Amino acid sequence: SFEEARPVPDLLRHVFIAVKTSGQFHGTRLPPILDTWFTTAPNQTWFFSDIDDAELQQRTGGHVINTNCSPSHRREALCCKMAVEYDTFMASGKKWFCHFDDDNYVNVVRLSELLSGYSPQQDWYLGKNSIRAPLQILDRDRPGERVSFWFATGGAGFCLSRALALKMAPIASGGRFMRVGDKIRLPDDVTVGYIVEHLLKVPLSVVDQFHSHLEQMKFIRTDQLSKQISFSYSQYPDEANVVSLDTLDSQRDPTR
Ligand code: UDP
Ligand code: MN
Repeated sequence: SFEEARPVPDLLRHVFIAVKTSGQFHGTRLPPILDTWFTTAPNQTWFFSDIDDAELQQRTGGHVINTNCSPSHRREALCCKMAVEYDTFMASGKKWFCHFDDDNYVNVVRLSELLSGYSPQQDWYLGKNSIRAPLQILDRDRPGERVSFWFATGGAGFCLSRALALKMAPIASGGRFMRVGDKIRLPDDVTVGYIVEHLLKVPLSVVDQFHSHLEQMKFIRTDQLSKQISFSYSQYPDEANVVSLDTLDSQRDPTR
């Protein structure tokens, strides 16, 4: 359990974990993170929000970045935050960029074990696709043509090696990422897939241990939970979509 102190693998030092959030979620979605997995990786984890929050700043050791992006679920706002996440990672000098949403639980020890199997000097785009076929969109550079590519769902989390992030720089750095999103008019995670798979021709490597709430959390076998890298949760009209874990007090942590 997260209450047992575990030695943080050395590799974690090279990982930059970006969590996308918004002022409206500071009081609801962030406490379950701050009380659990954040404590394993407080130096690696940064929150990308849209307001100043002195109390949160204090609690995270100054790890909240006000992106000044608009606090909305609109594509432009989400691409704006991803652009700041990317630029902040580039400036950090770390070897791996990993993005998560604020409704993810991240098994940071397992994450670092996964990354230890890959070289950050090679191009790696690690994540989980949620749609069963590559996305097809019209090519805005070549009218009448289509492009198709896979993308890793942002809500499950994904990682990019530094080598790949460096190759993205001419296209994505200094806020250029937002321009790509504007051009294809698609959300931030799709924009990452478009840049990496379509423009740079680096394929998504599917890692099944990333999970978004597009999946049914209860179908992850209890004896396999500790091998997973990320989880999520959501509230459905009738039933909450949460991991099946009887040992967790559902009153104390409804998100499990
Ligand atoms: N989000 C945001 N601004 C908003 C709404 C959502 O930055 O106005 C972020 C939120 O913090 C989360 C991600 O976008 O990290 C996805 O939001 P949510 O889980 O609410 O929706 P989903 O896309 O998963 O249905
Ligand atoms: Mn979500």
